[in-house]
Amino acid sequence: MEEEIYQRRGRIFDVQRYSIHDGPGIRTILFLKGCFLRCRWCCNPESQSYEIQQMTLGGKTKTVGRDVTVRELIDEAAMDRIYFERSGGGITLSGGECLAQPEFTEGILRAAHEYGITTAIETTGFAPREVLDRVIPHVDYVLMDVKHMDCGKHAAFTGKPNDQILANAKYIASIARSLTIRTPVIPNFNDTPAEIAAISRFAASLPGVTEHHLLPYHRLGQDKYAGIGRNYTLSHLVPPSESEMQRLKAAAESAAPKLKIQIGG
Ligand code: SF4
Repeated sequence: MEEEIYQRRGRIFDVQRYSIHDGPGIRTILFLKGCFLRCRWCCNPESQSYEIQQMTLGGKTKTVGRDVTVRELIDEAAMDRIYFERSGGGITLSGGECLAQPEFTEGILRAAHEYGITTAIETTGFAPREVLDRVIPHVDYVLMDVKHMDCGKHAAFTGKPNDQILANAKYIASIARSLTIRTPVIPNFNDTPAEIAAISRFAASLPGVTEHHLLPYHRLGQDKYAGIGRNYTLSHLVPPSESEMQRLKAAAESAAPKLKIQIGG
């Protein structure tokens, strides 16, 4: 592969090893900085801006964001190659939104394949078609969020309408090796059986999609908002109970009997 690809630079804010929730096997998660959306429940608010920021947590201030080359990043990830090989794992690009840095993302994915490492991305799918054409062919597992079928509600809670996302889901399904649909279950946003069932029906309509994952809302990122000088606007929300999640799972199964519906990633 051309050296130019290994020299591409991009911006990340974290690398987490030994994940078992973001694609098959044991995976190293590479968190890219920058996102097109502004989901009100986002547990990584420090990911949203592309700018390098300072974040204060527990009285300690740290810099969020660093620029790296594809070569530096893939060499770091490849340290765990033995775990990837034994578990069927690999790397997962998360964020933020990896499609917001398409050249860098394409470079990481191609380098991973050159190293014999499988690739996954976690994405909103909110990107121009040419970005999808550039990135998706180098992805083994696409994990894509569909957060709501109603355009107005989607825009009110994420800052963007959903029409491009839904159209892109159909397109990604047509070109991806593997596509799983995931839905963060957020109280007062999409936590009714009708809303979840509508997303499951859409997921079932996508060619090749066999799984829909329901990810319960949590507040783990709440303190980060104050840490970067922002307000967390959802502190009144209570995470859904196990029985509420089971009720939504049953609604999804009824709406899309051919899909495997799973609670959690
Ligand atoms: S798409 Fe993901 S990273 Fe972007 S704002 Fe929403 S939850 Fe956060």
